[in-house]
Amino acid sequence: MLKFAASFLIFFTLTSSSAAASDDPPRVRTFDKNLRALIEGGRARSHTFNEVYEALQNQPVIVFVECNWFLPVGLSGRGRLVTASGGYRYVHVEFACALAGRTRLAILAHELQHAREIGESTTISDNDSMAVVFEDIGFQTQWDGLHRAYETQAARDVQRRVTDELGE
Ligand SMILES: [Zn+2]
Repeated sequence: MLKFAASFLIFFTLTSSSAAASDDPPRVRTFDKNLRALIEGGRARSHTFNEVYEALQNQPVIVFVECNWFLPVGLSGRGRLVTASGGYRYVHVEFACALAGRTRLAILAHELQHAREIGESTTISDNDSMAVVFEDIGFQTQWDGLHRAYETQAARDVQRRVTDELGE
């Protein structure tokens, strides 16, 4: 347990020093170089995608992006707050790996918009405080007694605009 705490401290120190070394460390992060290329392509090809990306750069939020082959049937993407620490909110975003070209970017933009909504709120620090904010800016789409999910019109608008901007 003590070892884990020490490792975490080292990890956090490294994060801080890399932030100090660069004015603008990326808020949107991925380990996957293909996904990094996808994100850069989205920024180049869609004004709206780039706008969401740039907005995140000014917010205290770090977004980890990956694709998932095993999302529940019918789900194209999802995001969740992982933790809040050191003034930053850490968000995990995933989308279905099987999604094709522009749909993939549109869904990713949708989820990045949700990360932006988390970043724009100063009161979100955990799932309960996030639920309060999303009750306000959005609406609940799922509540099975265990999991709840929210949607916002802004994210749907971003998804539609990115789809339009990418064309066929
Ligand atoms: Zn959504």
